[in-house]
Amino acid sequence: MARDPRYDILFEPVKIGPVTLRNRFYQVPHCNGLGSVLPRGHAGMREVKAEGGWAAVCTEILSIHPSSDSWPFAQVKLWDEDDVRSLAVLTEAVHRHGALAGAELAHGGFAVANRYTREIPLAPSPIPNRRDPWQARAMDKADIRAYRAWHRRAALQARKAGFDIIYVYAADDLELLQFFLSRRRNHRTDEYGGSLENRTRLLREVIEETKEAVGDSCAVAVRYTIDEFSGPDGLVSSVEGREIVEMLAELPDLWDVKVSPWAEDSLSSRFGSEGYQEPHAAFVKKLTTKPVVGVGRFTSPDVMVSQIRRGILDIIGAARPSIADPFLPRKIEDGRPEDIRECIGCNVCVSGYTSGAVIRCTQNPTMGEEWRRGWHPERVNPRRTDTEILVVGGGPAGLECALTLGQRGYRVRLAEAERELGGRVATEARLPGLASWARVRDYRVQQLKKLGNVELFLESRLNADEIRDLAVPHVVLATGSRWRQDGLGRHNHKPIAGWDSPQVWTPEAVLAGAPLTDHVAIFDDDDYYLGGVLAEKLRLAGHKVALVTPAALVSAWTVFTLEQEKIQKRLLELGVEIHANQNLQGIRPGEIELACAFTERLTTLHAGSVVMVTARLPRDELYSELTEDPAGLMRSGIRTVDRIGDCFAPGMIAHAVYSGHRFAREFEETVADGLAFRTEPVDVSS
Ligand code: ADP
Ligand code: SF4
Repeated sequence: MARDPRYDILFEPVKIGPVTLRNRFYQVPHCNGLGSVLPRGHAGMREVKAEGGWAAVCTEILSIHPSSDSWPFAQVKLWDEDDVRSLAVLTEAVHRHGALAGAELAHGGFAVANRYTREIPLAPSPIPNRRDPWQARAMDKADIRAYRAWHRRAALQARKAGFDIIYVYAADDLELLQFFLSRRRNHRTDEYGGSLENRTRLLREVIEETKEAVGDSCAVAVRYTIDEFSGPDGLVSSVEGREIVEMLAELPDLWDVKVSPWAEDSLSSRFGSEGYQEPHAAFVKKLTTKPVVGVGRFTSPDVMVSQIRRGILDIIGAARPSIADPFLPRKIEDGRPEDIRECIGCNVCVSGYTSGAVIRCTQNPTMGEEWRRGWHPERVNPRRTDTEILVVGGGPAGLECALTLGQRGYRVRLAEAERELGGRVATEARLPGLASWARVRDYRVQQLKKLGNVELFLESRLNADEIRDLAVPHVVLATGSRWRQDGLGRHNHKPIAGWDSPQVWTPEAVLAGAPLTDHVAIFDDDDYYLGGVLAEKLRLAGHKVALVTPAALVSAWTVFTLEQEKIQKRLLELGVEIHANQNLQGIRPGEIELACAFTERLTTLHAGSVVMVTARLPRDELYSELTEDPAGLMRSGIRTVDRIGDCFAPGMIAHAVYSGHRFAREFEETVADGLAFRTEPVDVSS
């Protein structure tokens, strides 16, 4: 199909220094947990972005020197010739599809701990390292000269590795150059400290030296934090954040602008909507004639066009939208924007890097699996036979499984008990701030409707007899899970006294409108979003809410999705009472008993209703009934019965989607018993 002429502007080329972007879609640097230890996986992941139409595909932070080492987090490094060769694999892969490759040269200064190299971290001034109990040392003039030389050498090495865009990086509250800019970190009194001009000196020198080194053939981009979200002592977009752009306006070939820290930059959809950086970034284009790229979780081509027409940005930058759909530009170009797999803003991708895991994405189960499993986001193997599959349950796992099997060409029947598809996503998307999560369902339902070989049956709660009567050869159970009411979970290994009293509710019951009293206690031993978001919902509905958790923080696991501080702040501001480091000991009429997680000292708390958010049990009764009667299966011609998603093992929505996808990919394929993916070979010969 032809592309909608309204979107033509998105496909105009943009010149940046000596190179040209073929369109305005730009995959900005983003972390991914692959790094230099999994270079083929990294190259494979970046390659599909280039294939999907992004005009530029950039690496994440690329350490230029052993004094910047973020071990044990996966990092890419450019320290020696081996690294040049390894990165050349990536640039070749990106170039194969006509995209430019960008290298985000970086030095983490005091933000890295150098746990691998044991070098002393560097900083403008002697300040403590972020987490570890050792300090960074203040750089003297010789250190500054050395740093400039490392950066210059890295720029030359990056060009040798085939990169077309070389970054000078001063963003994310993760980078030495930003630390020199900001009064918060720079307490120097020499020509690199004090006045704004002095604090900007190093950034200016490094831009000039990078241009001198590689500027004839590579674009030199500056990634810059326009606002540090840290009050008047930091960079603020209306004051020093702006003045620095004024001072350096024409120096780089490309301004890549954003806010920091990372939690503000990768704002989750619970805390901001598409285009959220515009109020901070809008001034930049007024101060420079050089192209400006910016981000804001852009998934709508209309919003992108508006950004360009209104003079906010020249180039649409994306990290998460390119993770959720590496083929986003291609889909707009092909005139099928409705096929875009829109990012839901859950930050599970971020949690890959921050928790030390390989990247994963709720919406795109192929993310990170391109090389090791050979999964392409837009292509699947054709069916092996003309057999038929019955998928029971239309939540994230069942929908993804039915869709992928359908795309492979199999005949599929999907039976869902409720009137609405989506399972947990359908209900949870009604919670405060989670509306975008419905995209997990909407994308899949939209795609399923295009397939003639998949039949959807709503309001069809199947029992074992009905499944046997349907006599479909392959049955996949995606019937989800249910929350426990008895309180078993991380901290309690037997039911909590009083768990079966009438005032105790599960999250499902609360979502279905359980009649709660004025004072509600939520016991959260799950640590992800649900306990916190239920507290928010109930408080907004007028209840007095106490959130009790054995963890030190509310929704503790959300530190990995960069949401924890925001959640705790929101709950405190709403007036939710937080009882951290407290376990639930017992439930009595009108009150609960808490035990201190350290001393076991007991206290009581007034609570008319109690909500248990502790753990879930797979809803797998059908599996037992069916598999415990092999003769019945045989009589019905049912050859296989499998479980996927929460019905197999309760997890995040991302796990359910992945599980459904994996089942469908591997159905009737030969899969190794044990490790079902390629590992990266390590050369130990030298
Ligand atoms: P997952 O995250 O694994 O996809 P969900 O709990 O989100 O799990 O979705 C499970 C879906 O299965 C729900 O929509 C539920 O209504 C449906 N379901 C559960 N039992 C049956 C059944 N016996 N027949 C049909 N659908 C079922
Ligand atoms: Fe978007 Fe969530 Fe995927 Fe990240 S994991 S790209 S936030 S859908």
